[in-house]
Amino acid sequence: MAREDLPAKGAILQRDEETYAIPIDLPGGVMDLPSARRIAEVAQKYQARTLKITGDARLALIGIREQDIGNVYTDLDLPIQPGMALCQQYIKVCPGNAFCIRGQQDTLAFARRLKEAFYPFPKIAAKIKIGISGCFNSCAEPAIKDLGLIGLTKGWVLMVGGAGGKEPLIARTIARDLDADQALAATGKILHYYRGMAARHQTRNFRLGTILAKEGTERLRRICGFA
Ligand code: SF4
Repeated sequence: MAREDLPAKGAILQRDEETYAIPIDLPGGVMDLPSARRIAEVAQKYQARTLKITGDARLALIGIREQDIGNVYTDLDLPIQPGMALCQQYIKVCPGNAFCIRGQQDTLAFARRLKEAFYPFPKIAAKIKIGISGCFNSCAEPAIKDLGLIGLTKGWVLMVGGAGGKEPLIARTIARDLDADQALAATGKILHYYRGMAARHQTRNFRLGTILAKEGTERLRRICGFA
């Protein structure tokens, strides 16, 4: 594998500038036991220095030598995470009512549907971070994500425009009591809107919250049918 191909394959050069991290996709942050066993065996075989759960809910095998990368992928036999800058796009999701006693909606099922429908989010130049929580405890931090969802007994609360980082932003709620189909449809429309705005000269690469601070949320609400 040529070195320039490694990022496209998902391998990320580490601080030592010699070894790589190989991130494995963990949809919803969960994995079955056979996969966990295989990952551990591969990590041991190729002497990974450590395993790290990343902020974007992947599992990284850290400290893999360049010459072993191809074999690691072969032995893992898991889908390769397409190359993208770290933490540019991700869906952070809490366990929801599948596992958490407080969960009021099935966050993992919703995240799976969202991922199948839209992820990776093509042609959005700016960051897009999504947080999906199963109750107001907000363990997936939906209020500081570009797009946040909170599951309550009556349905989903939909929030837009949050961000962390240098200039943190709190997301604004644009709809409540959505069923999963409505929330998914609205998510698609928001991503479409964001893609268009993030490509415009005036708002190129802006986070959604910065765009909405300039443009307001009325148009987005109209597009989503929430006006
Ligand atoms: S946000 Fe609520 S449902 Fe999700 S993990 Fe936290 S407490 Fe549980």
